[in-house]
Amino acid sequence: MSNKDSSEFDFAEALLVKNTEIFKNCINVVVGKGNLKASILFVGEAPGRNEDLEGFPFVGAAGKNLDKLLLKVGLSMNDVYIANILKCRPPENRAPSDDEIKAHTPWLLKQIKDIKPKVICSLGNYATKFFLAGADVGKMKDIPGITSVHGKVKMIDINGMVVKLIPLFHPAAIIYNRGLLGEWEKDIEIVKREIMQRNLI
Ligand code: URA
Repeated sequence: MSNKDSSEFDFAEALLVKNTEIFKNCINVVVGKGNLKASILFVGEAPGRNEDLEGFPFVGAAGKNLDKLLLKVGLSMNDVYIANILKCRPPENRAPSDDEIKAHTPWLLKQIKDIKPKVICSLGNYATKFFLAGADVGKMKDIPGITSVHGKVKMIDINGMVVKLIPLFHPAAIIYNRGLLGEWEKDIEIVKREIMQRNLI
């Protein structure tokens, strides 16, 4: 069953999403999963095929790597919230367009305002560039890629809320490029240290 007609999605930020072509073509709106009171937010790129079918983020192959990361740092689904830059699957999993990011991220920003996370782990290029650009989509192209910024912790300001950003490789990148595994494991240690030092769970 699709959630696209849900009466819960009639606020302004959701209406922006509903006006995009990818909303018309998707099966489910993938809002997020986890604990809305969590201190740690993970943000990926966009739902893939499995996420579109099930209506939840990171339920496919990339999700298995994310689950392993959570396990390694001792996090349960109760300690985190997981969302994406886009709420709907782009056809053939193509990259998000600037217009789609502009239309879908007001909803993400609303989620951040409600959840008030202390730490955001951005997964991959799109989420990382979005936050490092201060949520200004036009500036994302000027931000260095994940290969040079992964593991570099940075305080960011999101609409007046100061949050610690930990950029991580996208969990799917680890599947396609096993050479990244060593770096990924070092970055996981950074997440772990952050959680311990700040008693986030
Ligand atoms: N990749 C993402 O970026 N998000 C998902 O939800 C699944 C795969």
